[in-house]
Amino acid sequence: MALSEFRLIQRFFAHTGASRTDVKLGVGDDCAVLSLPAGKELVVSIDTLVEGVHFFENSDPERLGHKSLAVNLSDLAAMGAEPAWATLALTLPAVDEDWLEAFCRGFSRLAAAHNVQLIGGDTTSGPLNISIQVHGFVTAGAALRRDGAQLGDLIYVTGRLGDAGLALRTVGNVAVPAAVQSRLDLPTPRLQEGRALVGLAHAAIDISDGLISDLGHICDASGVGATLYVEKLPCSQVVRDYIHANNDWSLPLSAGDDYELCITIPPEKLAEAERLAADFECGLTPIGRIEASAGIRCLTADGQAVQLSASGYEHFSS
Ligand code: ADP
Ligand code: MG
Repeated sequence: MALSEFRLIQRFFAHTGASRTDVKLGVGDDCAVLSLPAGKELVVSIDTLVEGVHFFENSDPERLGHKSLAVNLSDLAAMGAEPAWATLALTLPAVDEDWLEAFCRGFSRLAAAHNVQLIGGDTTSGPLNISIQVHGFVTAGAALRRDGAQLGDLIYVTGRLGDAGLALRTVGNVAVPAAVQSRLDLPTPRLQEGRALVGLAHAAIDISDGLISDLGHICDASGVGATLYVEKLPCSQVVRDYIHANNDWSLPLSAGDDYELCITIPPEKLAEAERLAADFECGLTPIGRIEASAGIRCLTADGQAVQLSASGYEHFSS
């Protein structure tokens, strides 16, 4: 090892992301010491990215630093939480200083943009594996959950669906526009949007495994079903072209990795939802409705059912 573990930690992890006054003790001691704001609840989530499973071998380390934090912040966004702290458990095959510097650059830029401080972690040797835990706050009792959807709720999504799936399906194809590739490599956690939806949305989830699969989690947790109107799904022109050329709706319906939010909103809050839709730079689009009968139906405007070839990505499925 070129650098001692102590120097490595000092150089790469001691001053990463924002610098927050609620961090009484950050990287360097046995534990971090943090002060919690009064009246808030702590919201915590962890996600692991494994080389060869969640990202390709030899992925660009700066993009990886961004993405591994972004997918975690997306979970905080889906709860309507304000992000604060992160811990990072890194397993590295070797100490490659250029790789670490680029990884930390991507991580730190996104962290600083959302006022997140890296407060600790662990560094071990082995196959490349990135585990990040994030911590945020919500006003007590106000977290957006999966189990709050009610009959008659309107279903909305932020941003656009299917770009990340298209980039994944066409890996290595130079014809994929850079903006589409970035939707896979550099997802944008919808934190501001998630917080704006607190008090308005009945239920929320972030779309990591595909719309059908993730909306399915809301439906299961809430004991309801849903109908989606496929022509209403917000998609970029390249995704639209793909759908029409292949008569295949799977990109916006079941490809994952977009990290948009799927939300249900009661119909009496329609005017408020429309105001937010006009405010959100990424957009907020109504795509369907919560119903009593279980399962998710996908319909075209003329009432035809859309058949799906693949559901969302699942680990451990055969
Ligand atoms: P210990 O042996 O007491 O668990 P470590 O030597 O693992 O401590 O870590 C020393 C300090 O460096 C701790 O504050 C730990 O949180 C921090 N640290 C280690 N690895 C990382 C990392 N990858 N990112 C952020 N902080 C780290
Ligand atoms: Mg210790």
